[in-house]
Amino acid sequence: MKYMDEFRDPAKVRALLSGIEALAPRLGVPRRRPLQIMEVCGGHTHSIFRYGIEGMLPDWVELVHGPGCPVCVLPRGRVDDCLALAGRDGVVLATFGDAMRVPGSRKSLLQARADGADVRMVYSPMDALQLARAMPDREIVFFGLGFETTMPSTAFTVLQAEREGIANFSLFCNHITIIPTIRALLDSPDQRLDGFLGPGHVSTVIGIRPYQFIAERYRRPVVISGFEPLDILQSLWMVLKQLAEGRCEVENQYRRVVSEDGGSAARAAVEKVFELREFFEWRGLGSIERSGVRLRDEYARYDAERKFALPNLEVADPSACQCGEVLRGLIKPRQCRVFGTRCTPQTPMGALMVSSEGACAAYYNYARALPEDGRAARGPLADPAASV
Ligand code: SF4
Repeated sequence: MKYMDEFRDPAKVRALLSGIEALAPRLGVPRRRPLQIMEVCGGHTHSIFRYGIEGMLPDWVELVHGPGCPVCVLPRGRVDDCLALAGRDGVVLATFGDAMRVPGSRKSLLQARADGADVRMVYSPMDALQLARAMPDREIVFFGLGFETTMPSTAFTVLQAEREGIANFSLFCNHITIIPTIRALLDSPDQRLDGFLGPGHVSTVIGIRPYQFIAERYRRPVVISGFEPLDILQSLWMVLKQLAEGRCEVENQYRRVVSEDGGSAARAAVEKVFELREFFEWRGLGSIERSGVRLRDEYARYDAERKFALPNLEVADPSACQCGEVLRGLIKPRQCRVFGTRCTPQTPMGALMVSSEGACAAYYNYARALPEDGRAARGPLADPAASV
């Protein structure tokens, strides 16, 4: 297959792994502790496990799976608010498939649908707007979530609703923004991160400049990365090369998609429709300043939080759940006390087990049979084409 195969070429994978090994002397190997590189984006986490990349790496490099899966960081209280919306007479709640499976304190939206609530899966917010056109006697609430990647499509939908004067459409807004979250992670006293693989999708919208503070203020290298095995390995090599050379810069490995300034039309729509909230609650990470957005006052009539009274309660995770420690890179998924027993993709207790981009789901689907550090995969999985 043209294009895909080129990004999964075993010979090039081996060359990049040799390039990483060759940096070892300049990185002080053997080291007291491995270098910890965080892949921020859940898409990277998925690819890393799907292609067995973690198992190919030398033991002095450790990948830490970051908070870049929006479904995974959605707190239970927000899911409960959604359930309250879905339970109202006349409301149709529309959202993405993954979001329907996130557990609230009593059930998920999928279970609410089984109990009779009108919850519909859509592929885009425009599908939800179409429901509003088709059912003028019902109130369609779109449960919107995601980082800057999905924010523009929600913003364009609100603008379209306004253009058409559609009054029975509203948004329960759970969009979040990645930069304050990375800053909060870097400010966390227990973090030991040495560098970052920057998110590819988010960067198509925001560009690469917003990451500059990571290099300048926190002295950590960042490489914006694509999602194929060669993308991830090359980005990792670029981060390690910066560390070996004592540099801390923002580099862009994903230039075929991400430009320096991102997408100006998408950013303009987002800025027109949304404003930052003072605080937003993240599952496992707590409340993070200016890390979520809401609709501006001009679009208040499309804001489900202002249109309907919501419980708006903070709900703690079950005590056995260790999602926060996984999200902060303090433990690996399989070290969670309920991984693979009480918490599986079929019976998720924490949100990291719900989405295919969640670290726990990725571990469960691709790496649960491997030894503790996953390195035994070095033989068969060192040919990434074999796992495609
Ligand atoms: S195994 Fe389940 S409860 Fe434990 S960290 Fe993962 S998602 Fe959370």
